Amino acid sequence: MWDFSTDPDYQAKLDWVARFVQEEIEPIDVLYPGTADPYDRESKVFLDVVRPLQDQVREQGLWAAHLPPSLGGMGMGQVRLGLLNEILGRSQWAPMVFGTQAPDSGNAEILAHYGTAEQRAEYLEPLLDGRIVSTYAMTEPQGGADPGGFTCRAVRDGDGWVINGEKWFASNYPHAAFVIAMVITDPDVPVHRGSSMFIVPRGTPGMEMVRGTGLSGEPVGEGVHGYLRFTDCRVPAENLLGEPGTGFTIAQTRLGGGRLHHAMRTIGQCRRAMEMMTERIASRTTRGEPLSRQQTVRHALADSWIQIEQFRLQVLHAAWQVDQSVETGDPDHKRAARLHISAVKAATPRLLVDVIYRAVHLHGALGVSNELPLMRMWQGGPVLGVADGPTEAHKDVVARLLLKDAVPAEDPLFGSEHIPTRLAAAREKLAGTLGEAAGAR
Ligand SMILES: Cc1cc2nc3c(=O)[nH]c(=O)nc-3n(C[C@H](O)[C@H](O)[C@H](O)COP(=O)(O)OP(=O)(O)OC[C@H]3O[C@@H](n4cnc5c(N)ncnc54)[C@H](O)[C@@H]3O)c2cc1C
Repeated sequence: MWDFSTDPDYQAKLDWVARFVQEEIEPIDVLYPGTADPYDRESKVFLDVVRPLQDQVREQGLWAAHLPPSLGGMGMGQVRLGLLNEILGRSQWAPMVFGTQAPDSGNAEILAHYGTAEQRAEYLEPLLDGRIVSTYAMTEPQGGADPGGFTCRAVRDGDGWVINGEKWFASNYPHAAFVIAMVITDPDVPVHRGSSMFIVPRGTPGMEMVRGTGLSGEPVGEGVHGYLRFTDCRVPAENLLGEPGTGFTIAQTRLGGGRLHHAMRTIGQCRRAMEMMTERIASRTTRGEPLSRQQTVRHALADSWIQIEQFRLQVLHAAWQVDQSVETGDPDHKRAARLHISAVKAATPRLLVDVIYRAVHLHGALGVSNELPLMRMWQGGPVLGVADGPTEAHKDVVARLLLKDAVPAEDPLFGSEHIPTRLAAAREKLAGTLGEAAGAR
């Protein structure tokens, strides 16, 4: 039952992916490094270079691999997907070339699970085909981690709904053909039962972008993370996804697998940083010998490898838990999957920050410069710590699930591992066999 090998056919696919990413996609990363560049459907590089590469991915049967076969994916399960994402994580453009980029992959999952036949034809098909990109809008300016503070609201009006309120950090809005927005429809019940999901097509009157926000280092006012305002924005009733009040359940559909994909992509980036670190310390000399002869430098390399390997096993184990829960439908497996996903999400930023910091540092001034990708990769650490829910919130989930079956000690003062208490019990248990010898211990 215990086997860490990858089956040879799939390994051959992964080898193809690794070569393809390095030879065909990484040059695009260097020429078009903007975070928004992959999402621009009108650009020459997308139409003339990326489209033909996407066709090659389709020929390999690897297009949108996260989806089930009924939607054109491979239905390969999270462990295999993890191994694929580990390679894709090395490149900014690779997820787009393979049809697995966020937030479209999650939005496609929502539409596949909850969309009507009409919604699927209008939004899912072009999304899966890579002809359009989309946005997911849940966070609000006054708080994202606590949905209890959301106020953006939709009210039923005749044959439609009217939305008023604001959303914040809605990624890729400037290029999106539609927005999936989570909005309060019943303020009288907790948000988990009172929110709903709507599809709001681009150009719907009343939906505007107040400004685009970028990440640090990008020009102010030009970012792709939309600060959106809805003012009497009317959408027809058929734009509701699922039933009213099911927004939260729908949101959970999209986040689980994505967190593991981000974790494996992070491992891919850390491996790349470690390769750079290894090359650097083997090539650079100090005091007449390679940097790699210095003990602290060797430890930085070893610590990075150990951390990556530990985390990789954790993520693949979490992926296996998810596959088990899907296969069996067992509530215990589902709970285990949830626990493992949140644990992975909480641990991901630390790996990136630690490993890439070492790589930056060992490259000296070159490492902190804009002539290597390392500082930009490092910035991904804090981003991973808040996007998709802050680390603290995920640790809370882990603790809550761990405490669910916790049983208070019979002796609340000293607990069940108290040695004098256990010694007395052991003496009593073995007195019949050991006689006085038991009492003398
Ligand atoms: C690059 C990027 C892309 C994003 N894309 C999207 C998107 O496409 N759509 C979307 O809807 N949102 C998106 N977000 C928003 C993201 O989901 C939120 O930033 C996140 O949920 C945190 O919300 P917040 O920023 O309002 O922080 P807050 O909720 O204000 O939290 C700030 C800090 O308070 C602390 N904190 C919060 N809650 C707790 C708690 N329970 N226990 C202890 N400490 C706590 C943490 O330190 C936390 O980092 C994106 C964010 C980033 C950075």
